[in-house]
Amino acid sequence: MSNPVENVVIVGTGCAGLTAAIYTARANLNPLVLEGSLPGGQLTTTSEVENFPGFPEGIDGFMLMDNLRKQATKFGTRFEQAQVQSVDFTTTPRKLVCGDRVILARSVIIATGASPRMTGVPGEKELYGGKGVTTCATCDGAFYRRMEVAVIGGGDSAAEEALFLTRFASKVYLVHRRDSLRASKIMADRATSHEKIQCVWDSVPVAVEGVAQGAVSGLRIRNVKSGAESVLPVKGVFVAIGHVPNTAAFATALDVDGNGYFVPTVGSQVQTKVPGVYVAGDCADHVYRQAITAAGMGCQAAIEAERWLAEHGG
Ligand code: NAP
Repeated sequence: MSNPVENVVIVGTGCAGLTAAIYTARANLNPLVLEGSLPGGQLTTTSEVENFPGFPEGIDGFMLMDNLRKQATKFGTRFEQAQVQSVDFTTTPRKLVCGDRVILARSVIIATGASPRMTGVPGEKELYGGKGVTTCATCDGAFYRRMEVAVIGGGDSAAEEALFLTRFASKVYLVHRRDSLRASKIMADRATSHEKIQCVWDSVPVAVEGVAQGAVSGLRIRNVKSGAESVLPVKGVFVAIGHVPNTAAFATALDVDGNGYFVPTVGSQVQTKVPGVYVAGDCADHVYRQAITAAGMGCQAAIEAERWLAEHGG
């Protein structure tokens, strides 16, 4: 028996993928959503989301994603666990290879997200997500009012996170392995001159302390020049050493930039060079990276897919 041809296959179940599912399902396209290794995406690792419009009291990240999933299911979305390993977008229908299975699709929305790069030091994993280690100041900064926090990294993200955290924290240590930031000059100048930010140069994290108590109690660092170790008395550790977009399986078929992010066609946020194939969310956005912007891109991709199918037979 030959494989059925799906109208639209959505890869990923974060904010972008599930919003695309809600829209395509409501348009009666009977979407198939492929769920990867982190169902619900990055938000499921956050405790409370206070900036998603419509929730004045905030909402638990896991619950928000569960709500989106229920909403998508209500309109007929089908979910399957499958990890896309490679694709063939030269054929019609498009092919997605998942292990020994090939899924055929008239249109595809790729919403595979990005994974924050982590340092891998002891304590980081154990205290990640609601216990003091986080990768998103916009999401979690407000929980650290009048506390001391550390940001690890030296790029634009680290500078931006540190500056954002000055609104809440009493002091922000910016821990970088070199003696100057690689961030753009304007961001670096702002961060290094801010009265609440103390740059800790030439230093790498060694361990996040507090595992036994279940909450961050400090960040142990080592000066790479002197070898001396010390502990910063922080309650929050913000890891900002870059993200890795989850685009490898598609990188030969679509355009990606030097950091691996999808590059949409000029004039669109979601269209790719392959007709009927769209990208949405953090896999195609290294600038905003917010739940709401990812959802917005998922909506755009769904509407584009719907129009494309209407024109080309869905
Ligand atoms: P990035 O520019 O790649 O910077 C990553 C930083 O983390 C670097 O300083 C790097 O150190 C450090 N690092 C990497 N691995 C590390 C490790 N294992 N331990 C300790 N430190 C480590 O990443 P990003 O800051 O996320 O920026 C990504 C892109 O988005 C950039 O193009 C950036 O300009 C852009 N962006 C722009 C804005 C804005 O314009 N407002 C905001 C955010 C991001 P080294 O310096 O030693 O390599």
